[in-house]
Amino acid sequence: MNERDYTPVTPLPGEVRLLPGTSIEIISSGSSWKRTQHALFDFDGTLSLIREGWVDIMIPMLVDYLMPWAAGGETSESITVLVRDFVTELTGKQTIYQMMRLADEIRRRGGEPLDPLEYKADYHERLMKRITSRREALLAGSIPPDEMLVPGSFEILRELRDRGVTIYIASGTDENYVIEEARMLGLVEYANGGIYGAQVARGAFSKEMVIRRIIKDNDVDGTALAAFGDGYVEIADCKAVGGLAVAVASDEAGCSGICDSWKRERLIGAGADIVIPDFRESAALLDYIWDRA
Ligand SMILES: [Mg+2]
Repeated sequence: MNERDYTPVTPLPGEVRLLPGTSIEIISSGSSWKRTQHALFDFDGTLSLIREGWVDIMIPMLVDYLMPWAAGGETSESITVLVRDFVTELTGKQTIYQMMRLADEIRRRGGEPLDPLEYKADYHERLMKRITSRREALLAGSIPPDEMLVPGSFEILRELRDRGVTIYIASGTDENYVIEEARMLGLVEYANGGIYGAQVARGAFSKEMVIRRIIKDNDVDGTALAAFGDGYVEIADCKAVGGLAVAVASDEAGCSGICDSWKRERLIGAGADIVIPDFRESAALLDYIWDRA
């Protein structure tokens, strides 16, 4: 199954409307939210910070592959702009889509691209070099999981579990790595609904498929679902079934508690109901969702 493209459906609000005394931005409200029984979390950028900085690996790599096919007038600067634009546009989708786009761009210039899976393997190898030290430090216990998590992650997972909500993690990263990194971060015990990730076989996984399975297996409608994510795919997929979409506009590099403005705008466009910078105010957020504020 293909993942949807980014299509803005909601204009940016004229002014920012915050839940009083918090950084929680309210875009819309829904009377059904208190019926939330299932919560789907994206992984990278929403909970995990292990892969923070991936874009600084991907863009130079794609530029390197595309440069030999640069057409007349194209420079490494213009190729970098082109690559940054399409990587940004496709952010939130599974990695293979960026690699398929690279292959298209090479073909468009008369080149003979590799199988996109080969580009993906190369990207993954380069990314692993960057994040190996983080993974090893987590495994050795020299970095506590808290330092590699979006602030407040444990709190919101705990509070959702206390409210009887079933928790799922779904990621566009390959499933074996998601499970491994979730284990390093101590998240597995919270994800009582399961952990799902990309499969080698194209079309064998999408967040939309996970959502449809949750709805079918539990015999509920989409209003029983909430999605938390920093990517447009989970936000749009959740809204498509009538669920509550909480955008996590996380500042992955700084953990400043201030929304990343690019993510905020993009996720509001995708239909997010609520925007938060992280989970530090999860108690207030959940009280609001359950109408107990
Ligand atoms: Mg993400």
